[in-house]
Amino acid sequence: MIEQKDFPLLHHNTFGINVTAARFIEYGSVQELRDLIAAGRFPDSFLHIGRGSNLLFLDDYDGTVLHSAIKTIEVMEETPDAIRLKVGSGVVWDDFVVRCVACNWYGAENLSAIPGEVGAGAVQNIGAYGVEAKDLITEVHTINSEGVERIYSHADCRFAYRNSIFHALSGRGVVVTHVCFRLSKHESYTLNYGTVRKELENCPAITLGAVREAITRIRNGKLPDPAVLGSAGSFFMNPVVPEATFEAIRRDHPSIPSYPAAGGGIKIPAGWLIEQSGWKGRSLGPAAVYDKQALVLVNTGGATGRDILALSDAVRASVKEKFGIDIRPEVKIISRWK
Ligand SMILES: Cc1cc2nc3c(=O)[nH]c(=O)nc-3n(C[C@H](O)[C@H](O)[C@H](O)COP(=O)(O)OP(=O)(O)OC[C@H]3O[C@@H](n4cnc5c(N)ncnc54)[C@H](O)[C@@H]3O)c2cc1C
Repeated sequence: MIEQKDFPLLHHNTFGINVTAARFIEYGSVQELRDLIAAGRFPDSFLHIGRGSNLLFLDDYDGTVLHSAIKTIEVMEETPDAIRLKVGSGVVWDDFVVRCVACNWYGAENLSAIPGEVGAGAVQNIGAYGVEAKDLITEVHTINSEGVERIYSHADCRFAYRNSIFHALSGRGVVVTHVCFRLSKHESYTLNYGTVRKELENCPAITLGAVREAITRIRNGKLPDPAVLGSAGSFFMNPVVPEATFEAIRRDHPSIPSYPAAGGGIKIPAGWLIEQSGWKGRSLGPAAVYDKQALVLVNTGGATGRDILALSDAVRASVKEKFGIDIRPEVKIISRWK
């Protein structure tokens, strides 16, 4: 266990914002959490972080930041058809995907190269190229600040677009300790994205490794490497609008891209709205809209969280003025007190 005061968070958020946490606790097992709770040293409220790849810190954090270093991967059940794994919340997400690909377990390959850890993967219900974490998750194990341990079934998790019940619960003292996954042993791929099929066109055989490599290449071509240029990936969610609103916008912009949204309405790519509003590649001080993908805001060097927020506000205002749509951040914005 690591416990430290005035802990620097610069290397714990992919935006590269230079802030500190008043107290930082990293635990390596559920037992360590139980011990902290029994000793009355567990904070009543806290911010749980993974790799900080979906967070924007505005200020130094006055409270306690928790981090999981539970890094176990256990086989729970194996049949000729499938394998069930119980994975520690502190396992790096992409290490988990690498393991699945190497073992010929099908299902996680489209989620290759997404930054972050397994616990947050469930909290966020991460998704890419037609697959979401919820498609693989069977249960989520948690403990709360009173020491009550609970296993959430898939239905209990209330997964939605980049959301789950754990978003609300992590603000109420619930920690995700393990995530259980079911992977198939039968060869099957999700290749319904044109970009992925195109990238695989000259590939002699479709394999898990080939799909992983293709997806990693596509991602590297359009997303900044946080080690080089700070970002949190897509900063905004794609808005869903009523059909009438969409048709009204289409009258003036016939080329507007769109997709039917799962729960009804029309989903519009926020990146397109931002680009049409003239922001792609533009900067506001040390914060910029990434020139290869307008959905991504980047720290071009030394930006504070408030510099990024000012850019986000300016982009939102332009989109609102031009299209009447309020695009909302996907990134969690953390001020002094959560
Ligand atoms: C370059 C780049 C590309 C990206 N591409 C994608 C993409 O394709 N698809 C996608 O969905 N996302 C993408 N993201 C966003 C990000 O990778 C995911 O949201 C990821 O799940 C965040 O993981 P993390 O470990 O960094 O979590 P953090 O950002 O640290 O935390 C995310 C949330 O999870 C909570 N949390 C974390 N761990 C726990 C825990 N153990 N218990 C309780 N709560 C917890 C936090 O409080 C917070 O609310 C991208 C980000 C970057 C920088």
